[in-house]
Amino acid sequence: MLAILYDPDSLLHKTVELLSSKLVPAFESPERLDAILKALHLSEYDLRSIQFSTTADAPRKARLLELASTNHNEGYIQHLQTVHDDWVKAGLIEREGHVLAECFTYPASTGKPLRPPKDLYARAGYYSFDLSSGVMSETYKAALASANLAFEGADMLLGVSETNPSQLDTIFALCRPPGHHCDGQRIGGYCYINNAAVAVATWRSKFPDARIAILDIDFHHGNGTQEIFYSDPKVMYVSIHGEDEYPYYTGAEDETGIESGRGFNINYPLKVGSSLDEYLEKLRSGLKHLSQHKPDFLIVSLGFDTFHGDPLGSFQIHTEDYGPIGRITRQTLLGIPALILLEGGYVIQHLGDNVLSFLKGWNHTTP
Ligand SMILES: [Zn+2]
Repeated sequence: MLAILYDPDSLLHKTVELLSSKLVPAFESPERLDAILKALHLSEYDLRSIQFSTTADAPRKARLLELASTNHNEGYIQHLQTVHDDWVKAGLIEREGHVLAECFTYPASTGKPLRPPKDLYARAGYYSFDLSSGVMSETYKAALASANLAFEGADMLLGVSETNPSQLDTIFALCRPPGHHCDGQRIGGYCYINNAAVAVATWRSKFPDARIAILDIDFHHGNGTQEIFYSDPKVMYVSIHGEDEYPYYTGAEDETGIESGRGFNINYPLKVGSSLDEYLEKLRSGLKHLSQHKPDFLIVSLGFDTFHGDPLGSFQIHTEDYGPIGRITRQTLLGIPALILLEGGYVIQHLGDNVLSFLKGWNHTTP
């Protein structure tokens, strides 16, 4: 059984990005979530609204921040919360304006540890790695709402596994903004909080030694998730993504983990325009590794920018193909509590059907 979670506050967030020297509304827009919700409202799925800002009590809010702090820098979370207001107060932007960096950190030969700069304006660059993710007035609220869905989803699966494991084994969290590009201390790729990391922290708060599988099937490499768990042998991260595509500097096959985490990070870069068969071959291989990891908990970072014609992605994957992708994934890791987290996907007119196709496949796990 499957339930789907969303937070209406996720619709508040709009952002801007710099493309070809022009500041434009980001592809990551509220219309994406709206399209998915419209399709789901017309379906029979168990769709639940969870409005973090109005329904969570103070201890619940503190708990979410505590879990986020497990894998996110405290100064970074503080920055997310205050930077927009600080810029407005300092007269750098109007209330409806956005925060974007001017200068990023870079490797230096001095060997000095990097510290957040004192200058308020410069700090935006210290806590980000690209120009795709402006911080607007509602960004922090939406990022918390999104992370909360990962927390609630993992928490629900923890509770259900004790009482009635057969009733609910999958939560699909319609997280927006997405999370897999955030490395715990830098905004980037439309991501502000790494939702998968929040889910892992939630699961580990009850099962510290749990073995966890993360399957990342967004078109783009989840550099942030990889970074957070790169030395962690209990968390196996598998990603299938476009070769030489955004975020450009990560995602190669030889990035396999470090220290005791070596062998637990597996990347499958695939050429742009790859066919469904080529994609499924990598998926089966990745799932085999995840299955051998014997996970107690499965996280799927699910992006629909693998869809043919996506402006930011593009494999030769069509609406009906998401069925087998969902079915093969669930069949291989059957019965394991699974949290699916929404990542990218920018062909808005097909997003709803693509989600329904994936869920249909996920739910039809018998041949
Ligand atoms: Zn993506």
